[in-house]
Amino acid sequence: MNIILFGPPGAGKGTQAQQIVKRHNYFQLSTGDLLRIEVKNKTNLGKEIEKNISKGNFVSDEIVNELLKNTIKELKYRDRIIFDGYPRTINQSKNLDKILTEFNQKIDLIFSLHVPRQIIEKRIVGRLICDKCNITLNKFFNEEDIKLHPCGSEHFIKRKDDNSETLMNRYDIYIQTTKPVIDYLSKNKNFHQIDGTLEIDNITSKIDTFINV
Ligand code: AMP
Repeated sequence: MNIILFGPPGAGKGTQAQQIVKRHNYFQLSTGDLLRIEVKNKTNLGKEIEKNISKGNFVSDEIVNELLKNTIKELKYRDRIIFDGYPRTINQSKNLDKILTEFNQKIDLIFSLHVPRQIIEKRIVGRLICDKCNITLNKFFNEEDIKLHPCGSEHFIKRKDDNSETLMNRYDIYIQTTKPVIDYLSKNKNFHQIDGTLEIDNITSKIDTFINV
């Protein structure tokens, strides 16, 4: 099965993707993570990417599609991919169909995590990510877990684009550009909207009921 996880920034896509990876041995294809690796490696491409990410704008389709295709073509990931952060535009959605068909793959399940705008802000501004294991926690909600984290609390870093100003732009782009993709796909039988304000485990169990059939 291949899965798409949709949701505004801070909806918990990454967290749920990590849960699915752990429970069902999936591969999380986060285009944001792939782009951040390029930035971290300070490649020429990375510098170009950073300009867009730091403003909250999209990175060009050309760059994202290339990174995406490199993963989809790997045999070991076939039928086990969770798309987190892709597609974000109608064009990307068409491109995904094209690449999947090329590799004899399809999308089996689509989840959209719904979280109101007011809740998102606190989640994004408090979000911290461990630069060793990539787990996401929140300084407002998980103070104790951060202190006791096995990799060491000093490994928690803040994403540069997780600030109030950039968030506004990211959220607006989500409503204008990604929401229409979700509205279009919501007509499919395999589409499920999930309340993203529920407890993490509660959301995971809901998702599990569809994966376990
Ligand atoms: P994310 O980790 O999904 O929140 O993505 C972080 C940033 O990476 C976004 O704000 C965009 O700048 C860029 N990005 C991630 N996925 C895509 C995509 N599918 N298309 C264009 N830009 C993307």
